Amino acid sequence: MTVDIQRRGLMLVLSSPSGAGKTTLSRWLLQQQPDIVMSVSATTRPPRPGEVEGKDYFFLGVEAFNAMIAAGDFLEHAVVFGNHYGTPKKPVFEALASGFDVLFDIDWQGTQQVGAQARADMVSVFILPPSREELERRLLGRAEDPPDVIAKRMAKAADEISHWAEYDYVIVNDTLEAAQGKLAHILQAERLKRLRQPGLPGFAETLVRGE
Ligand code: 5GP
Repeated sequence: MTVDIQRRGLMLVLSSPSGAGKTTLSRWLLQQQPDIVMSVSATTRPPRPGEVEGKDYFFLGVEAFNAMIAAGDFLEHAVVFGNHYGTPKKPVFEALASGFDVLFDIDWQGTQQVGAQARADMVSVFILPPSREELERRLLGRAEDPPDVIAKRMAKAADEISHWAEYDYVIVNDTLEAAQGKLAHILQAERLKRLRQPGLPGFAETLVRGE
């Protein structure tokens, strides 16, 4: 017998420096878990080859992005590597209301803003690379970016990493399989928190009363 207890959706935030394997981990989690959806951000940076509008990002001009800020359409927004990034508010709350968890790939600035608004619903995870050498290797291995962009990202990696202690959980991504297991366990445990299961009082009542 499976018992379905009503659950309150959570906001799972993943941050890391570029090249720590965050995208790979997010994709894996979305494939593996049916009840979690990705928050698709808006950005003013140009699309990389292979990136799909509305799936990877909503690609906007600066004016359209500013109009969304003015309209209060973002849950959070920040400038990262000189481009604007923001999380559209509406789809997040729609997904949460429909009983889904929402996965965010946002930087430390965005994490602070989401935390300020919805700390009880946010679970934040920071992904660290196993070493500086490995981080460099992974960044160089990514063919789509020109060398000056890679150099800039390497410099920015240190800045992003300096915020690791602001997160609830930290995973060192040494082997992908181990990191995947850790991420899935974090999600599982956080879903089981008593306050994230509003259906529990009613369920417990039926046990006590024998109904
Ligand atoms: P990329 O341009 O490589 O896709 O992303 C660059 C950085 O921007 C990553 O660290 C990513 O987490 C962050 N980012 C992507 N979308 C958002 C967003 O909506 N808000 C914030 N604050 N950061 C974002």
